Amino acid sequence: MSIKVNLSTIKASLPEHVTLVAVSKTKPVADLMEAYEAGQRIFGENKIQEMTDKWEEMPKDIQWHMIGHVQTNKVKFMAPFVSLIHGVDSLKLLQEINKQALKNNRVIDCLLQMHIAEEETKFGLDEKELTSLLASEDFHNMKNIQILGLMGMATFTENQNQIKKEFTHLKSIFDSLQATKPVNCKLNTVSMGMSGDYQLAIECGSTMVRIGSSIFGGR
Ligand SMILES: *Cc1c(COP(=O)(O)O)cnc(C)c1O
Repeated sequence: MSIKVNLSTIKASLPEHVTLVAVSKTKPVADLMEAYEAGQRIFGENKIQEMTDKWEEMPKDIQWHMIGHVQTNKVKFMAPFVSLIHGVDSLKLLQEINKQALKNNRVIDCLLQMHIAEEETKFGLDEKELTSLLASEDFHNMKNIQILGLMGMATFTENQNQIKKEFTHLKSIFDSLQATKPVNCKLNTVSMGMSGDYQLAIECGSTMVRIGSSIFGGR
């Protein structure tokens, strides 16, 4: 299957309110260009260096999403151009993003990553940490970041009920958060769902899916 065909098949299956992030990590620029030429403008990468290299080389109307774990000392490399950072899971990281955004005279959109999976290894905040982050004075003082919503990854399992439970949980955290109208937030995004589970994620309320291998093939 070609990238173009994969892309149009997936796009046709997505409801209108769901945004597709084409996860292009490890793939060569030629593959990304094939998706670009088929109309895709949002790409997701999980390494800052690789994303920066691709940004330099590719058309400037692309929106680059950082979907991986972010090291604080590397934020400065993507601060001039990154469109959305999905994996924010500490106040310290948010402070660095705010600082680098200010240096670049812009506001950087972020998602807070929640720990919804059973596995210990996945990154993310729990609900208590989310509440205290949003309530902190340091957070309130940030002028150069904006929180658009939440991101989460389900447990790596075949058990659909388990995955459904975790996605539903993330959506319910999002809904309660929206009701509290927190500062520095414009809550409109729930980033959940990858190649193997995006249909389920959409049923559970996802508004943004991150799809890699179903578009570009295995890695
Ligand atoms: C790699 C990756 C994806 C895409 O995974 P596929 O299974 O290839 O669709 C989505 N989200 C994150 C955070 C990833 O690292």
